[in-house]
Amino acid sequence: MKPFIYENPTRLYFGEGQIRHLITETKRLGNKVLLLYGGGSIKRNGVYDAVMNALKEAGAEVLELSGVDPNPRISTVRRGAQMCNEHNIDWVLAVGGGSVIDCAKAIAAAAVFDGDFWDVVSHKRSAQGALPIGTVLTLAATGSEMNAGSVITNEETQEKMGWSASPHTFPKFSILDPAYTVSVPKEHTVYGIVDMMSHVFEQYFHHDEMAPVQDGFCESILRAIVQTAPKLVEDLENVELRGIIMYCGTMALNGLLSMGVTGDWANHDMEHAVSAVYDIPHGGGLAILFPHWMDVAVEKHPERFAQLAENVFGIKPEGRSALEVGKEGIQALRDFWRSIGAPTRLSDYNIDDSRLILMAGKATTFGPRGRFITLTLEDIADIYTRAL
Ligand code: NAP
Ligand code: FE
Repeated sequence: MKPFIYENPTRLYFGEGQIRHLITETKRLGNKVLLLYGGGSIKRNGVYDAVMNALKEAGAEVLELSGVDPNPRISTVRRGAQMCNEHNIDWVLAVGGGSVIDCAKAIAAAAVFDGDFWDVVSHKRSAQGALPIGTVLTLAATGSEMNAGSVITNEETQEKMGWSASPHTFPKFSILDPAYTVSVPKEHTVYGIVDMMSHVFEQYFHHDEMAPVQDGFCESILRAIVQTAPKLVEDLENVELRGIIMYCGTMALNGLLSMGVTGDWANHDMEHAVSAVYDIPHGGGLAILFPHWMDVAVEKHPERFAQLAENVFGIKPEGRSALEVGKEGIQALRDFWRSIGAPTRLSDYNIDDSRLILMAGKATTFGPRGRFITLTLEDIADIYTRAL
């Protein structure tokens, strides 16, 4: 295990009815609130009304910015930052999924940044701080509600990049009411499940043999998802099942799994390049790419895959080699994702081979990717080709 520092300052309010705490949090963080949300799902499922009632009771002055796109854009960030400055906003409240939360983090940091905020997203400069951020989560997927990261797309240059201004961009609080997620359609429920499993995989595939506790956390989250997801996709309004998945999504990417280990993260880089060019859902892209990355990685480090197969998918080794058991585990993952309705090929999104090299170039902007195995531009183009 490597030396590490762990701090997660986000206060979680988990469970039904926790929205009432928005009143005290508003009194704590300030009177002038920028309320950020997406394309209107919160108006249809009653979450908007619950939020507005709490803000009203706290006596807040609310400015709204709606229409945050999935795969949020730098143009929205610029607009939101300008609103914060023009109206002396105290803090930003994100009500939505990862896209709205990521956009809120960028707006909050851009509002106090001197210069063009794309320079921060593209790692040319560092953020100088951020307005406080709070979230009301409506979709279980990214973990953005309890981490400092954010992913923003530059629609003009077709780039999508992750950045962080830790500790400033950790939400001060996040309200997680599973009942707020029952209206998520099956398609986005599945994308969220794939994304949170991918976050676990990105951290599970490391080379540290002295991390049995971290591995156990990873395997426990994966097992819970594998047991719960098939029931949930047949029973989307089941609040108990929604609660298990919501908890898994948050724990998958709040720092718990990565203490003392170095994860891989190449699949996220590969997927961001695909959704930068084709604007596809993040979880859909991961479902397509991850098994192909595993096909490559298992040949080099089969033991880790055999452990995954045994401890998550219950596959018995029965005297076989780690490579054989590991490959059966990858097949079990493919079968599992297909069974809940995840896409399997880039052609499911009408993506052909015409821009594979362009995407592989974008994925390797900062050089070869991954730490469990290292991928060059050519390796990534090969994985895209396998995924066609
Ligand atoms: P999302 O893009 O936030 O939302 C997807 C869709 O779900 C939207 O159309 C949204 O509609 C709808 N939706 C959300 N809540 C709903 C509800 N309760 N009922 C009905 N529909 C609902 O999805 P996401 O997967 O959470 O976020 C994806 C983004 O996060 C990507 O850009 C990805 O790269 C990024 N990401 C960030 C991190 C991180 O740590 N920061 C990690 C992984 C991925 P409305 O717009 O109408 O609300
Ligand atoms: Fe992700």
